[in-house]
Amino acid sequence: MGKALPRHARFALLSAAVLAAPLLTGPAAVANFPSTEGNTSTASILTYDDTITELTKLERTSRYPVDVFTLEEAGTTVNKSEQGRDLYVATVGSGPEEIWIQGRIHGNEPYGTESILTLLKDLGTNGSAEYQAIRDAFTIHFIPMYNPDGSEMNIRQTVLYDDATGEPLLNSAGQQQRIDLNRDWTADRFAADESLAFYEYWTMVQPEYGIDIHHQGLKQQYGTGDDVTLSLGISLAPGGPTLPTIKDGAYDVLTRQMHGYVFQELSQYGYITMDRYQVGNSLEIDIKGGVVSAMMLGLNYQGMNPTGHSNPVVFFETSGNTSDGSLGQKARGKSIQQNVLAMKSLLSGLATGEVQQVDPETWDAIPHAPVTGYSTDYAGTIPASF
Ligand SMILES: [Zn+2]
Repeated sequence: MGKALPRHARFALLSAAVLAAPLLTGPAAVANFPSTEGNTSTASILTYDDTITELTKLERTSRYPVDVFTLEEAGTTVNKSEQGRDLYVATVGSGPEEIWIQGRIHGNEPYGTESILTLLKDLGTNGSAEYQAIRDAFTIHFIPMYNPDGSEMNIRQTVLYDDATGEPLLNSAGQQQRIDLNRDWTADRFAADESLAFYEYWTMVQPEYGIDIHHQGLKQQYGTGDDVTLSLGISLAPGGPTLPTIKDGAYDVLTRQMHGYVFQELSQYGYITMDRYQVGNSLEIDIKGGVVSAMMLGLNYQGMNPTGHSNPVVFFETSGNTSDGSLGQKARGKSIQQNVLAMKSLLSGLATGEVQQVDPETWDAIPHAPVTGYSTDYAGTIPASF
């Protein structure tokens, strides 16, 4: 989920500002990965046009079919960004179960795009048995850049535009209206066009599982103090107030297993240091308006999901963000690669059924601070003893 703005500004702008504050237990200066370097090399971050160019190339050159299309081509009613950009999806695989993988819903969290394009390329070219098993089991819907306007502006949110005038909508104070797209799937509000467009596409796809790629600030692992490179989390925390109530607890178990499997698989890589995603030192999150929360809750907005389809989702949070100048070029390759490994491992484990064999208590073995409560977008902070 990361963070886009100085803390004081975030509290002014975001309804659940505590969400954006990563667990920071030490000074910002850390070792090689993640790298601070005191600056962010935005020159190496993919633009919207770069992304389309790469998608087009992959569609043309891949050994196994990659299908690239816009939501307009997919037939959603709303199908452009607030600023009128096309919204892109790429599919690979021919299996019967659909998978949803989205990146860069926060425009200043760039590696979701790079990670997805890398995995898409691998799935389009790699003939090994592991990749073939993934292609045979699943049809994967990759959304490499959920928030193209925010990406072009290098901001977390997007800006609402007036369709009639083509100008930004202003609030009563004369300010642009910025919307966090990851708080915009709610029963009473789909403020941004991107939200409604991707929501309708989700109702068309009805995926079995989902993955959401984010960035966070630099943080240290509880207990060891080691620099964390990847946090594993879910916007409705396992064991929290909400997730155990969905599907008789089935998603509470599945999300524990999904993250537990990734934790086991990636623990063999020395450069990856993992923990659980927490905020404010010891809080898990329970955010119902998050996109992937709404997926798990089976949100039926204006009758568009009449069957109440829902699916479990996990998110991966790569350490480092553009706003803090903590996305150093030195760590770029490893940051992207750990996301690719996490996604590929999870897909492979789901394809073989190994994920469903994981002891759900593995979730508790992922390093984390003792949980004191749940940060919510509906009832403030709920104590762990709720
Ligand atoms: Zn994010």
